[in-house]
Amino acid sequence: MILLRLAVVALAATFISHRAAGQTPATRATVPASALVEKPWEKLSHKKLMEFGEKALGAEPQAWKHGETEHFVFHFQELADAQKVGELAEAYYRQVQMDLGVTQDRLTRKNHVFIFNNGNEWQKFAKVVRLDDWVMGVARRTELFLFSPQESRFATGALGHEITHCIFYRFVSNPVPLWLNEGFAEFESVHAYAKFRGLDETRYGSRRPVHYPLKQLLSATKYPKEDVSKFYAASERLVRFLLTQQDRRKFLPFVQMVASGSKSEDALLFIYHDSFKSFAAFAAAFETFNRPPPPRNEP
Ligand SMILES: [Zn+2]
Repeated sequence: MILLRLAVVALAATFISHRAAGQTPATRATVPASALVEKPWEKLSHKKLMEFGEKALGAEPQAWKHGETEHFVFHFQELADAQKVGELAEAYYRQVQMDLGVTQDRLTRKNHVFIFNNGNEWQKFAKVVRLDDWVMGVARRTELFLFSPQESRFATGALGHEITHCIFYRFVSNPVPLWLNEGFAEFESVHAYAKFRGLDETRYGSRRPVHYPLKQLLSATKYPKEDVSKFYAASERLVRFLLTQQDRRKFLPFVQMVASGSKSEDALLFIYHDSFKSFAAFAAAFETFNRPPPPRNEP
């Protein structure tokens, strides 16, 4: 199995995140205030960057502002932007940890988050690390890079999907199948945000079924050339099915089993054997979950 750790922002994911980010919260959950503290580069608790991080910061780290929260180091130009991202990033960390049911973070070092405000600087970085022109955010291992055009609040919009990739990497050491990696990021980009803002997440989920061949989805090692948004949507539905319709305590053992090299199909039948005696039974249950609600009878 191959995991594409270099995860690009799918247009669908961006759309969902933007839409969620634009809502006015009905009730605001009680969360600690952003604890992002600005610090000079020399005072950061963790300065060791990976390949992309070194390219982003260049030879002049002093040209950026820096700050940290409990689990993240930030590099940015606008403090207010970084503080919003910092508050959300920590909220995602807590929710992902809760949903996976993990207590042990395998890393002690912090994630690094880079927020670009300047279009030219972002284009320069994108060219160096070979991103497609349309990409506005990328996660790589524990590092996250976001383009946040001034005034657009894009950094908070794109954050959910990509930060989930970075946080997931802290808890699961080996690659997992592509559908699971992207599906979990898609799920949390709505779920964690809704929890954080106290929103009803059923308002944001699609009510339409997503038709994507299940075996093809489970075995994919590359992003499809066509129907990419359907691939993301079907992946999200499958993760949502496992996390909300099945015993949530089985999700982490399932993730660990595929991360250890088992095929998704085998691991599903092994971990969820109490519920599904065959792959056909699993596929039928997922199909039912994926079906739209029946139309209301008009009087
Ligand atoms: Zn992704």
